[in-house]
Amino acid sequence: MSTLEIRGVRAAVGGKEILNGIDLTIRSGEVHAVMGPNGAGKSTLAGVVMGKPGYDVLDGTVTLDGVDVLQLAAWERATAGLHLVMQYPTEVPGVMLHDVLSEALGTRGRSADGLDELLRVEAGRIGFDERFLDRPLNVDLSGGEKKRNETLQLAVLAPKIVILDELDSGLDIDALRDCARRVEQMSNESADGHEPLGVLAITHYSRLLQELKPDHVHILANGRIVESGGPELATLLETDGYAAFAEESDADADASASALGDIFSM
Ligand code: ADP
Ligand code: MG
Repeated sequence: MSTLEIRGVRAAVGGKEILNGIDLTIRSGEVHAVMGPNGAGKSTLAGVVMGKPGYDVLDGTVTLDGVDVLQLAAWERATAGLHLVMQYPTEVPGVMLHDVLSEALGTRGRSADGLDELLRVEAGRIGFDERFLDRPLNVDLSGGEKKRNETLQLAVLAPKIVILDELDSGLDIDALRDCARRVEQMSNESADGHEPLGVLAITHYSRLLQELKPDHVHILANGRIVESGGPELATLLETDGYAAFAEESDADADASASALGDIFSM
């Protein structure tokens, strides 16, 4: 049983504060959806937790099973059991998928025996064409194929906690269903000796959540979680949009600004 705990995280990019105090706890087998409009800070949250360079963490803690991950390099976070499915997967010419995964398994102290067979089985489960298994990583793949490739790597590496940064972007309906379904299975099953996956699914749309069933839904607006609830919150967003929640958070910001004004006028 694993727990990713994000407490009071504030973070800046290029000197501008983007995250204003994020609290989230994700345990094995739980699916948390973080939904928010463009520019809300969703990818910033993913980058800060995973250790992408360029972010300044101003305050707060991120721990995985009690270990302070903010002190670790990105690759150390990965070997500790954190995994990021990127919004825009990178093409890496000259580096084969098989080699990436066998190195990654080795770094985790796991054997790469049977990797070829596992890749074929997992590719079949998500409709990823086997011809792409012998390609350099993501090179010349369509947007949807890249996301299938990311899902394949996730299934092979079987981390403790995954952050999906808009798995749905660039995916057609069929690919979305296949990938979301596979992640949902991973969050349920404890087959092959892996504990059920804990999921932080970042998305704009509730469509992803029709297959990947969230236990908790959080709305991120202006760098803060302004509302948390159950799956019904995603349905409400679909009908009402983000405007109501964004206004709520602007109103809070105005209230604290005027409170500050009061202090200075005393
Ligand atoms: P989301 O993923 O929710 O669409 P992001 O986390 O990518 O939002 O971005 C949040 C805010 O941070 C945006 O206003 C964006 O312009 C800004 N931002 C992101 N990366 C940088 C950067 N490298 N330099 C300056 N501003 C950035
Ligand atoms: Mg983003």
